[in-house]
This record gives sequence, structure tokens and C-alpha cells, in this order.
Amino acid sequence: MPTAYKLNPISGIKNLLIGLWVTLRHLFSKSITLQYPTERWEMPERSRGVVVLLSDKESGDLNCTACILCAKACPVGAIRIDRHRGDDKRWKLDSFSIDNTICCYCGLCQEACNFDAIKLTPKYEFSSYDKASLIYDVHRLQELGRDVDFVPTAKKAAPKPAATTPAPAGDAATAVATPAPAPATEPEKPVEPKGEGE
Ligand code: SF4
Ligand code: SF4
Repeated sequence: MPTAYKLNPISGIKNLLIGLWVTLRHLFSKSITLQYPTERWEMPERSRGVVVLLSDKESGDLNCTACILCAKACPVGAIRIDRHRGDDKRWKLDSFSIDNTICCYCGLCQEACNFDAIKLTPKYEFSSYDKASLIYDVHRLQELGRDVDFVPTAKKAAPKPAATTPAPAGDAATAVATPAPAPATEPEKPVEPKGEGE
């Protein structure tokens, strides 16, 4: 069956020239594609990608205290933590893993953490041939977080005790809280003496 351009060569040549013109226009304009993986998109600072564990910049130790608040906050149960009590009665981390096959990048784990220990980053490369490798263990989470900047949250100062006055002599064991000053009242107006004609 004869094709359309054979039936109408003028139209065929015209469409060919249009196509070449489009190619020519884009040949010298700025490219909007990247040569991945040698080039990568610069992601917005607060974009939610790979979840990582943060470490102290000086000691290199994990900031995580194994409090498990992040695991409790995770709506899909993607965080798994095993821990035990140390000799100093503090929690010690045995294992920490995040299942990236079910993580929905909600950021609730980061919000729940009080120790600058877990953070969502702009990193976005998860590609893998093996589904099991998408469960990141503590070592991988820590390595992914090594180059992640964070501003340590200032620790809140302990509340100061209420002001007390020293107890009177002879009763040194007790201290009396300072009573609140009584509200100021307006002085009474002096009564004007009545005149004689009244
Ligand atoms: S990452 Fe934060 S919230 Fe989660 S266990 Fe560690 S210290 Fe607790
Ligand atoms: S980002 Fe959300 S879903 Fe993913 S581990 Fe944190 S709390 Fe769970």
C-alpha cells in the first residue's frame, strides 16, 4: 500500500524540514537533561529523601540514645530497634534498621527525636536489584549520615527552684516560701471637715 509521502511528496518534504528545524533549534540551546550518574540534580535543602542516622562531628559516635521514640512515632513500623540496659542504667543500642520498602518519608521520626540523631536528607538514590538490600542497618544509616550537616539543638536548661527565704533561727530544717506581695490598694481619702453653716 503506497504511503502518504509518496502520494504527496511536497507534504512529506515539508514535514521533514519542520522536524529538522526543531532539531536545529534545540541543538544549540541549553540542555535541560543531565548526564546521570556523572551529573545529579541539586535537590532543595528540606526535600525528604533517604533517612539517615547522625553522628557527633568530633567523636564520630552515633547521637542515638536508643530511646525508641522514633520507632513509636513511625506510622508504618519501618523502624526496628533492639536495645538493652547498660551497667550505667542507660539504654544501649544493639541494632537499628529502617525498611525503605515501606517508609513513606513523612518525617515523623525526625520530629520525634530529641537528640539530633535521625534526619531525612535530599539524597534520592535507592536503586537496587535486591529488595532485601533496601532495609538499611545501623552501619549503612550512619555512613549515609556522615556528610549530612545539622545544627545541634540547644539543650534546655533545668528549671530553677522556687525562691525561698531562710527559716527563722531554731527551725533551720524548714524553709518558708516567700509570700507574694499583697496587691497595692488606694489610700483612703481624708474626710473633709464640715462647715459651720451646714
Ligand atoms: S533516633 Fe532519636 S528518637 Fe530514635 S531511638 Fe535514636 S535518639 Fe531515640
Ligand atoms: S520518614 Fe516516616 S515512615 Fe519513614 S521511617 Fe520516618 S516515621 Fe517511618
